[in-house]
Amino acid sequence: MKTILVSACLLGAACRYDGKSKPSPEIIALRDKYNIIPVCPEIYGGLPTPRVPCEIKDGGVFSLTGENRTAEYLRGAGETLRLAEIFGCDTAVLKERSPACGCGEIYDGSFSGTLVKGDGVCAALLKKNGVRVLGESRIKEI
Ligand code: SF4
Repeated sequence: MKTILVSACLLGAACRYDGKSKPSPEIIALRDKYNIIPVCPEIYGGLPTPRVPCEIKDGGVFSLTGENRTAEYLRGAGETLRLAEIFGCDTAVLKERSPACGCGEIYDGSFSGTLVKGDGVCAALLKKNGVRVLGESRIKEI
């Protein structure tokens, strides 16, 4: 059975910035076909739950209150990649629009709900290293 990475919040872990999860029955059902490694790059980067939300701007990651969290996001992305390599994952199903996990579309850094093209820090690192990243709305493409 193939092993894939999945954003932990999509599986029901309450690791989001607001202390909640975002479980998806469709994503949880992937366990019938794949070995799943749940990952949360923001937690792996050392950030607490709950935490002040962050968005990507000018190549860095900044919190709503102005702190530069780029180092934490890079660390969390690196740890997630480490797990992809240890478990031989060539595919990741990650939460859309997150500054860590988002793939193809992220918020623009203004905290106004405006989306722009781009990837979260972890999604970008995984892609750069040959891992195929799919948002939760694209799991049929696995
Ligand atoms: S970093 Fe990814 S897995 Fe963790 S809460 Fe955010 S979207 Fe979910």
